Amino acid sequence: KYTLIWLRRDLRLHDNAAIYHALQSENKLLFYFNFDTEILDQIENRSDARVNFIHTELQKINQQLSQFGSSLIVKHGLAQECLLEVINDYPIANIYANKDYEPFAISRDMNCKDICESQQIEFQLFKDQVIFEEQEILKKDGKPYTVYTPYMKKWRSEFNSKEHLPYSYKLNSSNIAQVESKEIPSLSEIGFGESSIEIPAINLSADMLNNYDARRNFPALKATSNLGIHLRFGTISVRQAVQEALKADDQFLNELIWREFFMQILVNFPKVESECFKPAYNNIQWLNNEEEFELWTNGKTGFPIVDAGMRELKATGNMHNRVRMIVASFLVKDLLIDWRWGEAYFANHLLDYDQAANNGNWQWVAGCGCDAAPYFRVFNPIEQQKKFDPNFEYIKKWVPELGTDSYPKPMIDHKFARNRVLETYKKAINTY
Ligand code: FAD
Repeated sequence: KYTLIWLRRDLRLHDNAAIYHALQSENKLLFYFNFDTEILDQIENRSDARVNFIHTELQKINQQLSQFGSSLIVKHGLAQECLLEVINDYPIANIYANKDYEPFAISRDMNCKDICESQQIEFQLFKDQVIFEEQEILKKDGKPYTVYTPYMKKWRSEFNSKEHLPYSYKLNSSNIAQVESKEIPSLSEIGFGESSIEIPAINLSADMLNNYDARRNFPALKATSNLGIHLRFGTISVRQAVQEALKADDQFLNELIWREFFMQILVNFPKVESECFKPAYNNIQWLNNEEEFELWTNGKTGFPIVDAGMRELKATGNMHNRVRMIVASFLVKDLLIDWRWGEAYFANHLLDYDQAANNGNWQWVAGCGCDAAPYFRVFNPIEQQKKFDPNFEYIKKWVPELGTDSYPKPMIDHKFARNRVLETYKKAINTY
């Protein structure tokens, strides 16, 4: 009998919690991936770079498995139906996978667990994506934290650099099921084409780590780790990332803690998926002007740092964190467009899109989420440019026509917009 390892957001054979636990029994391991049509059907861009990335990583895994006389089982279709097919095709005793904290994944896994249990097959999920999950870092009263700084302090006090180490084990042909080698379905077989977008490589060099805090806010410097998409799809484990972070200044680990903070918010307060964390803010009267939204998505607002960021996102699937904050603030505060519009646009375009981080950060910028600061923080796009791209180095790359007649005039007066948003927010909160 086999233990089926269902890979999802953990596309690696090393340092993987489900694999580690499966190796504790005598069962041989069989590896499986499902191209879930419920997810794929929602993707508008048929040459989505993230689907390409998953496909490439699966090929690498299949190649590794072939060295052990095995092969990755890949199915394309609805998760539950595909799982049933695998159960019918192979002698499976149990199914091990790593826990995924998004509401969609939680309900999919509950359904799959029911299906398995009705067939006397054990279905187990393991903590792999985070160091601490939603019930592990709690306030003294047993409730989840909703403010980052005390959460971060508790996280750090609970963390043990000797305990939270990468998993170590050896895979070989005696602990892996021997399966006839099979090609995984091609991109076109699952309804996609090739993407020309390049996936940024992880940078955990000593130079990056040692200078992280000093340089991380300057988009022209490219001084961050590019861990985003790799943590999203698990080509690196969070345990390894944290081990690297321990060699750096405090700030880098703090960023990884932000990631876990927002993950536990999404699990503990699933309403944030569609609503403001702070209920009064559901009262805000958004203007939601579609033409203005288009100018924003196309990088034609007339505010150079906003336009540079939006053009970079469209062209590369990436945007620097500082610039993400500026463009998000511009959309929500200057244009009074619902943060959920921006959240959805980022979800379609960001290589590192992660529901918890994206939702948490959009709500943070909109002032309606988990943030100790009050809503009246409004980023000034001109001042931000002066501070973080003073020589227009980053901007020039994406807005080469800056300073010519073809560059649009600012679409709005920032001072006017600032007063307007403050009035609108005040009204929403006072009438709640
Ligand atoms: P580094 O600066 O090298 O940081 C290392 C890792 O720490 C990141 O890969 C990420 O996993 C984590 N991290 C860093 N900053 C944050 C943060 N503010 N919140 C949560 N985790 C963080 N990050 C995503 O991973 N997915 C998203 O969908 C996403 N959407 C965002 C939307 C907005 C409006 C904003 C302002 C930020 C968003 N972020 C998101 C956070 C952040 O911008 C990216 O994590 C970061 O830019 C990725 O680049 P990096 O890997 O080089 O980051």
